[in-house]
Amino acid sequence: MEQQLRTMQSEMDRTIQSVTDMKELDAIRIKYLGKKGELTVLLKQMGKLSAEEKPVIGKIVNETRAHFEDALQKRQAELKQAADTVRLEKERIDITVDRPAFRLGHRNPLQKTMEELEELFISMGYRVEEGPEVELVENNFDKLNTPLHHPSRDLSDTFYFSENTVLRTHTSPVQVRVMMRQEPPIRMVCTGRTFRFDDVDDTHSPMFHQIEGMVIDKNISMANLIDTLNVFVKRLLGEHTKTRFRPHYFPFTEPSAEVDVSCPHCHGDGCAACNFTGWSMELLGCGMVHPNVLRMCGIDPDVYSGFAFGMGIDRITMVKHGIPNIRLLYENDQRFLEQF
Ligand SMILES: [Zn+2]
Repeated sequence: MEQQLRTMQSEMDRTIQSVTDMKELDAIRIKYLGKKGELTVLLKQMGKLSAEEKPVIGKIVNETRAHFEDALQKRQAELKQAADTVRLEKERIDITVDRPAFRLGHRNPLQKTMEELEELFISMGYRVEEGPEVELVENNFDKLNTPLHHPSRDLSDTFYFSENTVLRTHTSPVQVRVMMRQEPPIRMVCTGRTFRFDDVDDTHSPMFHQIEGMVIDKNISMANLIDTLNVFVKRLLGEHTKTRFRPHYFPFTEPSAEVDVSCPHCHGDGCAACNFTGWSMELLGCGMVHPNVLRMCGIDPDVYSGFAFGMGIDRITMVKHGIPNIRLLYENDQRFLEQF
């Protein structure tokens, strides 16, 4: 019997080690320790043993049983850990997974030019004002002394929302709004989008951007206007830049002028870029605010006078960066924008 027990013990050890899941392990437990299990049966035969054999065999049986239960428990723990490892691996979230990089946008050169211009005028003591893009006809035309027959009021040139509202055709109505609510002295600039009915080509777009400025105070003259714009142009394009004021007509200023600047390539000597004129671009329009405009906006032209000027930001941006086509400014193509 002792031999039988020793054989059983080594057999148990082997089977337990070969088991790969809980079900098999349970089957083995029943095989040895169940009601009809091999060890149970052996125990039942103990009664037939002699008085001398009983304590010796009894001790071995107990040892075998304890050893078996130990082995079962150990194997059970091992199997459980293996199962956990498999489950954890299966449920693992790979936080190092390679996702496509988030693309940050890029500022449009138009926006940058607009901010540069604003900064320039802020440094000269101007305030930046804003106004709506959908504007009253009254502010866009009437209060700016634009006669009813003026071509800019035509339906084919302007986007009308209704009889009384338009998409503003210039940023000048912002000046009207400021004059209506503020007593002089006024020293302001405004930038923003403007709209005119225009077919798209390399240099035209139905949407474009302007910056306009206005100064109203006592004793403001054309000399102040010319000096201010000369300072501005030199700061924008360089100290060597010269200006040329040509008489022009605008309904809201009198007298009015257009301003050319000297060619940045030849500094006025004449070259192919400027058609050998020495002058490159017509940069801005300006003039003394018309007394009718002042009066309609509640300012007494006998006490105050002022000047105003305006220019296209798209054009300045294109000339500054050598951009050949205005469409590029609006397409928001990253390959274009990233160059600035
Ligand atoms: Zn030139």
